[in-house]
Amino acid sequence: MKNLEDCEILENEPMSKHTTYKVGGKARYYIYPKNEMALIKVLKKCKENGIETKIIGKGSNLLISDDDFDGAFIALDRYFSEISFDGNQVSAYAGASIIFLSHEAMKRGLSGLEFASGIPGTVGGACFMNAGAYKKELKDIVDAVWVLKEEDCIWMKPEECEFGYRSSIFKKHPDWVILAVRFNLEPADASEIKDLMDSRRERRMASQPLDKPSAGSVFKNPEEKPAWQYIEEAGLRGKRIHGAMVSEKHANFIVNEDQASAQDILDLIELIQNQVKKEFGVSLKTEVECFNWKKRI
Ligand SMILES: Cc1cc2nc3c(=O)[nH]c(=O)nc-3n(C[C@H](O)[C@H](O)[C@H](O)COP(=O)(O)OP(=O)(O)OC[C@H]3O[C@@H](n4cnc5c(N)ncnc54)[C@H](O)[C@@H]3O)c2cc1C
Repeated sequence: MKNLEDCEILENEPMSKHTTYKVGGKARYYIYPKNEMALIKVLKKCKENGIETKIIGKGSNLLISDDDFDGAFIALDRYFSEISFDGNQVSAYAGASIIFLSHEAMKRGLSGLEFASGIPGTVGGACFMNAGAYKKELKDIVDAVWVLKEEDCIWMKPEECEFGYRSSIFKKHPDWVILAVRFNLEPADASEIKDLMDSRRERRMASQPLDKPSAGSVFKNPEEKPAWQYIEEAGLRGKRIHGAMVSEKHANFIVNEDQASAQDILDLIELIQNQVKKEFGVSLKTEVECFNWKKRI
């Protein structure tokens, strides 16, 4: 793996450095490909050597176990981050920050990405899970997705992406890589867009524990009512397992209060699921993705 051109390769890399929960064991390799050719080559080389790969953006929706991962994370947020505007459209490489993108769109008087201006992930990660907020989702503005399948790069239309509530076709195909996304935006007054983004930021700051490590909402909202309400009514706000705690500010957030392990967070997730099931008969499904859990998931 050492001689791969156009790749930065880290070995035995603690994943606590690359996840917003600040937990996770060591990865055998953590690789930043510098361009598409390097990405294709590294994926091929890993496959030939039987090394499992996992694409990662900003690690803001991942609960990675404390176990070491005997594989390679392929990180896109360092070199795949270019964005380019063309009329009312913007194309963004998968590693671009969606917060940065929404601000650049705002500066150009282009509306559509306001909902994403507080989502701390990449364009690729947001597309993978059809990220959303304030009743808007990424799918509402996607024109096309540029995808690496095997060694071919193809454009997929939104209707081919099977976007649903926090899901997409990419969840079924972990070997596909989202390379870039083209978005349709609409002209609007830049100061009005800014005002909306500012008011949403204030709302987030007032209602979410943004000063503590987390991965945002842990559970998807059931149809009947939001997940936080079930957790609240089950008396679990503030519930703690070692360093992991149900946020006092927002009951659908678990925060890393004090050097939590990934296991502490998972134990708390399971405790919530069991309690809510027992009291209300409702199965809460995780929005956060658990990765490298050999023993229990
Ligand atoms: C404080 C906070 C607030 C949040 N608020 C919201 C919110 O309002 N709405 C919301 O939807 N989410 C929210 N999130 C969750 C998270 O930010 C989003 O899910 C985000 O889209 C994840 O992007 P990422 O780059 O961090 O993905 P990662 O966590 O790095 O990866 C998530 C998944 O996407 C896959 N993936 C990433 N990039 C690619 C790619 N290029 N090709 C193929 N697969 C890829 C990964 O393999 C992994 O399976 C929040 C998180 C935090 C910490």
